[in-house]
This record gives sequence, structure tokens and C-alpha cells, in this order.
Amino acid sequence: MNSRVTTHEVFNQPPPIGDFNVADDQVLLAAASREGAGWALDEVREIGRLAGSEQVREWGRLANEYPPRLRTHDRFGYRIDEVEFHPSWDELMTVAVAGGLHASPWSDSRPGAHVARAAKFYVWGSAEAGHCCPISMTYAIIPALRNAPGLASQYEPLLESRDYDPGLRPPLTKRGLLAGMSMTEKQGGSDVRANTTRAVPSADGTYRLTGHKWFTSAPMGDVFLVLAQAPGGLSCFLLPRVLPDGTRNGMHLQRLKDKLGNRSNASAEVEYDDALAWLVGEEGRGIQVIIEMVNITRLDCVLAAATGMRAAITHALHHTRHRSAFGKVLAQQPLMANVLADLTLEWEATASVAFRLAGATDQAVRGNTDEAAFRRLGLAATKYWACKQLSGHAAEALECLGGNGYVEESGMPRLYREAPLISIWEGSGNVAALDVLRAMLREPSTVGAYLSEVGLAMGANRVLDKAVQELKDSLAGLAERDARRVAERFAVILQASLLVRHAPAAVSDAFCASRLGDDHGGAYGTLPGGADLEAIIERAGPEVG
Ligand SMILES: Cc1cc2nc3c(=O)[nH]c(=O)nc-3n(C[C@H](O)[C@H](O)[C@H](O)COP(=O)(O)OP(=O)(O)OC[C@H]3O[C@@H](n4cnc5c(N)ncnc54)[C@H](O)[C@@H]3O)c2cc1C
Repeated sequence: MNSRVTTHEVFNQPPPIGDFNVADDQVLLAAASREGAGWALDEVREIGRLAGSEQVREWGRLANEYPPRLRTHDRFGYRIDEVEFHPSWDELMTVAVAGGLHASPWSDSRPGAHVARAAKFYVWGSAEAGHCCPISMTYAIIPALRNAPGLASQYEPLLESRDYDPGLRPPLTKRGLLAGMSMTEKQGGSDVRANTTRAVPSADGTYRLTGHKWFTSAPMGDVFLVLAQAPGGLSCFLLPRVLPDGTRNGMHLQRLKDKLGNRSNASAEVEYDDALAWLVGEEGRGIQVIIEMVNITRLDCVLAAATGMRAAITHALHHTRHRSAFGKVLAQQPLMANVLADLTLEWEATASVAFRLAGATDQAVRGNTDEAAFRRLGLAATKYWACKQLSGHAAEALECLGGNGYVEESGMPRLYREAPLISIWEGSGNVAALDVLRAMLREPSTVGAYLSEVGLAMGANRVLDKAVQELKDSLAGLAERDARRVAERFAVILQASLLVRHAPAAVSDAFCASRLGDDHGGAYGTLPGGADLEAIIERAGPEVG
């Protein structure tokens, strides 16, 4: 490239990051193997190669630069409720579905199948976050749908198909299906008991739904789990967009949300007008049924936090290793090294816990009750904390690029805008934290399972040992107002215990000292004097670009 332009020479700008393999990530590979997915690493590497290619990054850019558009009516005034996407969206969806990110573990009996899928989701998500929403919801609908075995036997094979088959046609005539969830109404999202959408039973066993939903993402999906008030109370329904006879169901898209981020993905305001739907589970048990879906999407929120952090430090490292200021490469300046190490530490802790929870999910769905109990509390706490951490992490990583990081072309603004979302949906911060208290109170075995897990790391780090003891001492008499404090403590101690067991001492010592020992400031870049910054940064792997 000619660096001379008419007025000056361009220098000290980093080279393009180029093609790289996102799965060249020692933390990912070790964690996925530990949790039982060593057999899937070739597939993970293949998805990682695609995710790190310039071509796919360009799809991600275009899908966000040209967000979806709603066409409510055709030229004659008939409702069509179509959402149009840039072709790049379809390219991204095609790869994700072909890779089985949307459902593969449910038809794969190999131990570790959910971990394998988590590893693929983690690497592929770095290409583009928005399309991961329908991918995640399709993955998550299956356990909830199994509450209606008749519906599951018809729809599950199509939800698990590796064919991406967009377009509005009767679901059972398509090669593959995508799913969504429709719970939140204007008057309440966290408290879905406030839902007013009505479900009236018909003589043939179906129901007719009338009402609205204030948020329904991925509205171009084929089927949705919808909450509505039936005679027996709040209930869960499967609702198709197109009826078996080919006519449109009474599901009208009013508007698409003009969102802060996640712009490639459509999120609609919906009205249901006498829409046909089938009951899933029993009347009055809608929350218990749909929570099975939410419990899976919460795992994806945690994985997405790890993905977002990984992508952010990849760009921060690339930039600072190629840019100099005051006569020295930025990454070699002691204070920048402290920032980079601190960001890397946070990512490794988040990725480690995300894969441990994927492993617990895998074992829980195979009937392991101890792992299910551990997952219940560990996931609630981590959904709160990891998702909460992502925004600050994205902001700091963006700043490593200076002004360049504030400019869209760097990709950093997209990561930054995406970050708060995973903390809002699937249980906003307070709701996730309160869920930790609920798990402790209603399912006390979850506390024992959690303590057994962190107990595996005891005796190796005095700061961690002390923190665990203090946590145990603090558990009696917790009040609602303490929920964030205790959720954070559960989450950070779990992260620390995993690093003590599986990461080099340079990593675990710095994490315990800074996150549990109060030897840290309020911002990134405040690791204590003894921290081995180089060894921590090295965990992020070789230079890309
Ligand atoms: C981009 C996007 C896509 C979405 N897609 C979907 C979708 O596909 N389907 C769907 O159903 N919904 C979807 N949602 C909605 C989302 O799930 C809700 O916004 C979320 O659950 C919060 O509900 P709410 O907005 O009604 O806020 P509220 O429930 O009003 O909560 C507002 C605030 O109060 C806090 N709060 C609530 N209860 C308590 C309490 N007891 N104590 C203390 N604090 C509390 C919450 O944590 C939050 O901070 C989407 C949202 C966004 C932003």
C-alpha cells in the first residue's frame, strides 16, 4: 500500500487485522476440552476460521449498516408484515444454522454436545451479535416445547434442521424453522404476571390469542412461544406466523424498535388479533414452561459476554501493539500494559465460568442433579455479574484505540452498543440478582452445590479461602436490598475458583488480589504492583493481523 498521499505520509496506524482464526484461543480450547467437548474442536476451529475472516466481518458490518425494514402492507393495502434484511444477514444466518448453533445438542447424544455448541456460539458470535438472537432462541425453545410432546414431535426435527429456510410459509412445509419468544408487554416485562393478552379456548383444542407484546425480537421467525392469560391463568402457547393452510396468522407487526445497538436484528411491537395458538404444558403454568427457555438463553447471555470481551481485547491488543506514542509502542508502556492485562483477566474469568456453566448445562440435561443445582445458582449470579461487567469492559477496550475506537469503522462502537443489552434481556440486573436470592431460599441445595464447586479450589490461594469463608458467614438473613452484593460475590468467587484450578498462578493471583482482596481501583488498569502483566496478556494469545 502506498503510504504517501499528497500532503503527508500516513504512518503509525495499525495494519488491517486481516484473516485470523477466532478459535486460536487457549482459554477456549482448554475450557471446552475440560468440559467434555474435546471431540468437537476441529469443527470449532472451522467456525473460528470463518468468524475471523475479513469476508464475514464485512457481512457483520453490512448487516448493521443496513438494518432490517418493516413492510406492514402491500401496495393494495393488504397486511403482509414482512421484515426485509440485507443479504449479509442471511449469509450470517446460513453459517450459524449449518453449524448447528441453533439446536445441534438436542439431537446429539454425545456427552459434551452442549459445550461443543457453546464453543461454536462463542467464536461465531464475534462475527456479529445481532443474528445470535434468533439462533439462541431457537436453541432455547426445545426444552420448553417438550412440555407438549405432540407439538415437539412435529416441530423439533425442523427446529433442529441445518437448513436456513427464510420466508413466510406454513412451518411444517419448510426445510428448517426458527423460533422466538413473546412475553414482554407495555405494562411489564420483568413481571410477566401483569400480561393482559387473552387466550380463549376453541372447541377443537386450539386457542385464540388477542392482545399485544411490546418487544418480540426476530419477528420473522416461524414459531413463537407466547404468554397469555387463559381461563386457568397465565399459560404458554406455540404460535405460528403462517397457518397450516398457508394464510397469515393474526400476528401483526406494528413497528420495529429503533434500538441503541443490536441493529442488525429486528425487534418488533406485535399485536395478536384472534391468532391461533396451541397450548404448551398446562393452563396456569406458563411461567414454569417459558422459564425453561429463558434458562437456556441466560447461558447464551453469559457466553455472549465472554465473546464480547474476547473481541474487544483482540482489537485493543492489535491496535496497541502497532501504535506508538511518546516514542514507544503503546502495548509496551507500563500503564497501557496494566489496562490490557486487567481487560484480559476479566475476559479469562468470564470465559472460564461461561464454559463451566455450559458443562453444567450439558450434565444437567442428562439428569445430573448436582450439576443442575450448581448451575441454578451459578448461572443466576453469573448472568447478573458477567453481563453487568461487559459494558465497562467494552468502554475501556474502545479507549485503548483512542479516537479511532470511537469511530464506527473500528468496530468498537458496535461492541460498545451491544454490551448493555445482554444485561437487560432475559432478566435485567436487579431481576437476575433477585433470582440468586430466590434460588437460595427456594432451592437450598443450590448453595451446597455451589460451595462444593468452589471448595475444589480451597487451600491454594489465601485470599480466595478467606473470601469463601466470609461468603459463608454472610449468607444468613440476607435482605432483598443485598441481592446485588451477594450475586456479585457468588459470581466473582466462582470465577476465582476456576482460575485457581485451571489458569497459571500469574492469572489467578492477580484476579484474587484485585477482585477479592480489594487491591484494585475503580477502573481497569489498576492491577497491583506484583501482578505479572506480560504473563496475563499472553493468555490472549498471539498477535493477529
Ligand atoms: C433489544 C431488546 C430485545 C428484546 N426482545 C424481547 C423478546 O424477543 N421477547 C420478549 O418477550 N422481550 C424482549 N425484550 C424485553 C426485555 O426482556 C425486557 O425489556 C426486560 O425483561 C425488562 O422488562 P421491562 O422493559 O418491562 O422493564 P421493567 O420490568 O419495568 O424493569 C425496569 C427496571 O426495574 C428493575 N426491576 C424490575 N423488578 C424489580 C424488583 N422487583 N426489584 C428491583 N428492581 C426491579 C429491572 O431490573 C429494570 O432495571 C427485549 C428487550 C430489548 C431491549
